[in-house]
Amino acid sequence: MQMKSRYFLLSVVFDMKIAVAALQGAFLEHEKILDKLGIDYFEIRKKKDAEKDFDGLILPGGESTTMGKLLNELDLFDILKSKIENGLPVFGTCAGLILLAKEISNDDKRYFGTMDITVRRNAYGRQLGSFGTIDSFGNFEDVPMVFIRAPYIEQAGEGVQILSVVDGKIVAARQNNQLVTAFHPELVGDNTLIHEYFINEIVNQH
Ligand code: GLN
Repeated sequence: MQMKSRYFLLSVVFDMKIAVAALQGAFLEHEKILDKLGIDYFEIRKKKDAEKDFDGLILPGGESTTMGKLLNELDLFDILKSKIENGLPVFGTCAGLILLAKEISNDDKRYFGTMDITVRRNAYGRQLGSFGTIDSFGNFEDVPMVFIRAPYIEQAGEGVQILSVVDGKIVAARQNNQLVTAFHPELVGDNTLIHEYFINEIVNQH
C-alpha cells in the first residue's frame, strides 16, 4: 500500500520531551523541524542536561570525531550510552549515525557502538561530498535527501531494518529504538516526514 507523508497524524503525547545534542553541527535545523511539528525539546550541552528525563534523543550531523571528543570531555558519554542501551529512542543523522555504529570500517575510533551496523565515513569521496536526491524511505516514496560528506552503511546485522537504499548503498535503517539516516532530513525545508516517523513509530511506541 502506498502511503503518503500525511499518513502521519502526529499523536504527540502531551508531555513528550525530545533532547537535542547541541554540542556541534546541525542541531538548530533539527530544532526548527521540532518547532514546526509543535514538539517540546531542550538542548543537551552539559551533564546536568543529559541527566534529565526525556523521551527521545537527536544526534545531529556535524563531525563525528569532534562530537565524540566533546561527549567525553563534557562527561555526557556514559549517561547517554546507558540511556540508549536501556531503550531510549534515538535518531542519529550523518555524524549521529557514525556515533551509533558498532563498527566504522575506515576509522579506528568507536563511539556509542549501540547499533549493529558497519559504516564507512566520508564514503562518497571528496568529489561527491555533497549531493541531493529523492528516493524512498520505508513505504514512503519521493523523500528528499541531502548528503554532506556522508557515511553509508556497509553491513547491517539481523535485527536491523533497512529503510532506504540509494544507488545500492544503505542510507537509512532502524534497530528497535535506534533510527539512523546517512542523509540530512533536517536540511530539506518543509519535509518533516522522517522526524514524524521517529516521533510516531519509535518515541510513541516506547
Ligand atoms: N563527515 C562527517 C563525519 O565523518 C559526517 C558529515 C555530516 O554529518 N554531515 O563525522
